[in-house]
Amino acid sequence: MSFTIAIDGPAAAGKGTISRAISTHFNLAHLDTGLLYRVIGAKMLAGEAPLAAAQTLTATDLERSDLRSAGVAQAASKVAVLPEVRAALTDFQRAFAQRAGGAVLDGRDIGTVICPEAEVKLFVTASAEVRAKRRFLELTQKGTVTTLEEVLADVRQRDERDMNRIEAPLKPADDAVRIDTSELNVEDAIRYAISVVVEKRKSANVLT
Ligand code: C5P
Repeated sequence: MSFTIAIDGPAAAGKGTISRAISTHFNLAHLDTGLLYRVIGAKMLAGEAPLAAAQTLTATDLERSDLRSAGVAQAASKVAVLPEVRAALTDFQRAFAQRAGGAVLDGRDIGTVICPEAEVKLFVTASAEVRAKRRFLELTQKGTVTTLEEVLADVRQRDERDMNRIEAPLKPADDAVRIDTSELNVEDAIRYAISVVVEKRKSANVLT
């Protein structure tokens, strides 16, 4: 049987960390759907048309090592506004969600558009300042030269674009459980997220 866990939220709220922890804890496959948009963003920066890039995307593309830069993130949020690009990525994401045993997908529209029937929906959020500080530390640890102000501006700009687009805007599904990580440490956020999934699996009669 399939058991889908949809985890949405803005950039750097901690949804990637929570998704990976849940995927490991319950031994479920995980898809970071932001990577799909990042691949298309990167290809657009290299001169390819976004729709053609979306239509020819393969699983191997997701392993590219150049997808984590701020430039690619901005390009991703620009191509993510295009309805035909989103439509071209829908089947890939839904097929992943339906795999036997279950799957964790994280992104912006998983609980609202891609998997509205997901058994578990989490919406992970935090203030823009907290998210920017985390992303700044992450980037500088990897050797990227940037400033906190630059990262905060990037986070705010992507939030604005993601929340205000017409197609699949970033918003919590009505039945999503919200986790605000502004004042939660990572262990507590993970523990809480796992407890939500455990409860849902019990009520769906899935052995954990
Ligand atoms: O999650 P990540 O920051 O890697 O996503 C990059 C961009 O891809 C986001 O800012 C958003 O515009 C877009 N995205 C989306 N829908 C998703 C996942 C990501 O629109 N499900």
